[in-house]
Amino acid sequence: MEENQKTALVTGASRGIGRAIALKLASVGYTVAVNYAGSHDAAAAVKNEIESSGGKAILLQGDVSKPEDVDRIFKKIKEEFGALDVLVNNAGINRDSLLIRMKEENWDDVISTDLKSDFLTIKAAAMMMMRKKKGSIINISSVVGVTGNAGQANYAAAKAGVIGLTKACAKELAPRHIRVNAVAPGFIETAMTDGIPEKLRDAMIASIPLGRMGQPEDVAKAVCFLASEEASYITGQVLVVDGGMVM
Ligand code: NAP
Repeated sequence: MEENQKTALVTGASRGIGRAIALKLASVGYTVAVNYAGSHDAAAAVKNEIESSGGKAILLQGDVSKPEDVDRIFKKIKEEFGALDVLVNNAGINRDSLLIRMKEENWDDVISTDLKSDFLTIKAAAMMMMRKKKGSIINISSVVGVTGNAGQANYAAAKAGVIGLTKACAKELAPRHIRVNAVAPGFIETAMTDGIPEKLRDAMIASIPLGRMGQPEDVAKAVCFLASEEASYITGQVLVVDGGMVM
């Protein structure tokens, strides 16, 4: 790999917001590691899309909630890239239900996939970035982590945790010139929001000042900005991308 080649890892990049982030970073010159847990064909399609537009990508399967998978992912990053400039923690799931009906397993799965994963990957990435004294980490939170939401106690707790983790890591890593920020999307059109009943969907859109659901590309543009030198004096922040839903 060339010395001046910029590299990025995007977790959960097989579809939705992660896919849009991977494509956007590749379009501005990053070699992108496209991570996924189970959706191999979809992730391979993202890699192909990047390559057919003249970009560079590798596929990295791994469940980012599992320490052994994260170790394997970062060994591969070291072998293939030598260094990592940008980490985007995007992988996430939801397992919604009212608190009184929430199964402990649904609490644990969401906390592991949406919060613990970020701890594992940031720890591994920081080791690499500290050597280079440079790096940018962007964690995908949610407006729900700021406001809370009935039926999403597990998800809201994980996404609020992501904000706390972002700020603590930003303070710890700033002396090494590693910036850590969060992006908090609002209501974005992806597989995660596909199942929302039409009536609720319409009510949510009516509560968005910009009058539409967000697209994955809206989030990708914000992530790309935070990754770039244009954001070189920004760390520990939460950039809300929600069409004005929460302000
Ligand atoms: P999505 O369409 O369901 O995509 C989720 C992605 O995460 C998939 O690529 C999935 O890949 C991957 N993934 C899930 N578990 C994983 C694991 N353990 N290890 C590695 N990859 C894993 O979701 P999305 O809407 O694009 O959401 C992306 C992020 O934005 C999430 O963190 C979500 O919480 C956040 N967000 C979304 C919205 C929204 O309105 N859509 C709003 C706020 C925040 P596999 O299929 O291979 O598992």
